[in-house]
Amino acid sequence: MPTDELIEKVSGLLAERGNAVALTGAGISVESDIPSFRGAQGLWERYDLMEYASIEGFRANPEKSWRMLYELLAVCKKAKPNAAHYALAELESRGLLRSVITQNVDSLHQAAGSRRVIEYHGNMEELVCVSCWKNYPTDERYGNDGVPPRCDCGEILKTNVVLFGEPIPWLARQSAEEEAQNCSMLMVIGTSAQVAPACDLPRIARASGAVIVEINPEKTWLTDTVTHMYIPGSASGVLCKLLEKQA
Ligand code: NAD
Ligand code: ZN
Repeated sequence: MPTDELIEKVSGLLAERGNAVALTGAGISVESDIPSFRGAQGLWERYDLMEYASIEGFRANPEKSWRMLYELLAVCKKAKPNAAHYALAELESRGLLRSVITQNVDSLHQAAGSRRVIEYHGNMEELVCVSCWKNYPTDERYGNDGVPPRCDCGEILKTNVVLFGEPIPWLARQSAEEEAQNCSMLMVIGTSAQVAPACDLPRIARASGAVIVEINPEKTWLTDTVTHMYIPGSASGVLCKLLEKQA
């Protein structure tokens, strides 16, 4: 089916049924100049993820992990929401989208005005002590020339981002599964769906009767297995058209 017809169809379903949920990944923030993991851009090519972004790697060598985290923090601090983030916030305010489940840690959905956001992989707003669990706003301890930030107790601080090998925060996991089970449509936007357990959410939603719509310039393993409607294209291009059709 041509892309415009697909968008027309999804737009009709949104208006008819409402109650949609979005599951977003790094691809939605690419147009805000935050590189995704599996795109061909710079940041991640220089870092071995298991070495820098896993909890084992962090424990073994926090200085090394913090080199990557500082770079990611600097990129996220500068980033502004793009048209795709704003389109989702607008769909929510019109009562067509009930929530956003995001794998991103950049807080751009909230910056765009989305209210019901489940941060599946945490965020970069807070730091937590690996020893006494004291929390600090990131801005308060940030930027010691790449030296890991430290707690008042002397131990190294970690961001509230879920590193590979760490469990998903209980409330986020529970809420995301409930949203997936209770939505009429799950829009899967800008994710390669390779990170578990987030990548199970489309299957959970489909098993509960939801229509799965996938928006991504490239196909993923979901496309021919779990997805009902695949719309090729950028998040902003497709979501802005979807929003226009609702006017
Ligand atoms: P990913 O990097 O594995 O995949 C990105 C996907 O986005 C790809 O399928 C790609 O084709 C698609 N894409 C690229 N440009 C797009 C665009 N303009 N519009 C729509 N889609 C586009 O991302 P992932 O599946 O989210 O997994 C990466 C993990 O890394 C996540 O857990 C996330 O927490 C983390 N991460 C977060 C950020 C962020 O917070 N912005 C950035 C990088 C990585
Ligand atoms: Zn401490």
